[in-house]
Amino acid sequence: MSGLFGCIDCSDKATDVAKTAYYGVFSLQHRGQESAGIAVNNHGTFMVHKQPGHVADTFDDVVLSTLQGNCAVATAKTAKSSETGSDALQPTLIKSRAGNVALSSCSVILNEKEMRDKLTDMGALFQSNTDSELILSLLSRNAVKTDTVEEAIMETIKEIKGVYSLIFMTEDKLIGVRDPYGMRPLVLGHKDNMWMLSSESCALDALDAEFVRDIEPGEIISISKDNIVSTYFDSSVSSEERVKNGQVCIFEYVYVARPDSVIDGSSIYESRVMTGAALAKEHPCDCDLVISAPDSGNAAALGYANAIGIPYGMGLLKNRYVGRTFIQGTQGERELAVRMKFSVLKSAVAGKRICIVDDSLVRGTTTKYIINFLRESGAKEVHLRLASPEVKFPCCYGVNASKGSELPARTMTDEEICKMIGADSLGYVSLDALKASLKGIHCGVCSACFDGNFVAGCCDGNCPNK
Ligand code: SF4
Repeated sequence: MSGLFGCIDCSDKATDVAKTAYYGVFSLQHRGQESAGIAVNNHGTFMVHKQPGHVADTFDDVVLSTLQGNCAVATAKTAKSSETGSDALQPTLIKSRAGNVALSSCSVILNEKEMRDKLTDMGALFQSNTDSELILSLLSRNAVKTDTVEEAIMETIKEIKGVYSLIFMTEDKLIGVRDPYGMRPLVLGHKDNMWMLSSESCALDALDAEFVRDIEPGEIISISKDNIVSTYFDSSVSSEERVKNGQVCIFEYVYVARPDSVIDGSSIYESRVMTGAALAKEHPCDCDLVISAPDSGNAAALGYANAIGIPYGMGLLKNRYVGRTFIQGTQGERELAVRMKFSVLKSAVAGKRICIVDDSLVRGTTTKYIINFLRESGAKEVHLRLASPEVKFPCCYGVNASKGSELPARTMTDEEICKMIGADSLGYVSLDALKASLKGIHCGVCSACFDGNFVAGCCDGNCPNK
């Protein structure tokens, strides 16, 4: 996953767009924690700074002051397992027939091997395993046979099969692309002379920019100094149909997105609170205190507690400064890594029957440690409630990286899972209730990790579901 941000200043003056890009991508840090980068366009001259680490560690005033220009793209990224070293850093830059192009992408290309083989047979040289290099290579080839960069992008997205949001920066444009399923979010914002594209609306709020709209599934939006023009993957259907047929990832609402974002018309926070209330109705719990697995379980726990009329309080604290934990070889080291991340407020939980609300149960390893910590701290009972249905299918689209055999809900009964994680009881919200919590949503949702309906197709090669 990646957090993407782009901005273009449409006044004639070159401005410090890098600072806007910095604050934008800083607000999207939750979408990718391993590396960060910003590329700027200074009247056709491109500069980039990117390195492993969080956004705040990657940039300081000196670096930002060197990144002068009127247009920028930025990425906060977690690399895929196939992407290594400096190859995994974004934005990716090329010089092609379309001129200088920089790309920030959040993508899973399902026919990656086929496309890579095809291009290699045609003489293309690849220096990395990244989607962004593949997309730019296709773009470069397509630019030879098309008149505009937008046409070259259209030809490129016709060739790739998968899910993605992309932000291209050319020498005179900022161009956003959302895949034909609209699975990854992308929004348009505006402030003064500046247009912005962002993975989530929370970045626009942070910059005090106006949220204009969600980019439609299959839309290529091209923003230049003079105008904004959209073209569509399928121009035969109306805008209304296109949006209605979209399939945004339901895990954005469950876990991925920041609670203060609104995606495709539905507030992440509201949907989580409503899911918690629905969970309480479906799986009430006789307990003394409702707590959350912070932070993604917070809103659902609040909704749950309000609905059953039992106090909601803090029982677990999350250390926000834990990055990657490397010491995970033995069980003891894995436990230590979870202890570094979560600590129990002993005085809040001791002697109480605790109901802990989490966003989801994927492999269950962290949950098992947390329940154990709560018991060690004196909790009399620990009941687990989950604000999403049983995760039975690994995501082919890059969100959860598990294998099918690692998902307990796929092979075990609730009783067996309770025994494995040490819970007194377990309850999942139903998929119908989760979908009903997405008030105001304009489009459909992908819920394949719960129901196995992979609308965008499955990966060829190493599909975790096969
Ligand atoms: Fe999201 Fe699940 Fe669909 Fe993956 S399979 S895109 S996690 S809803």
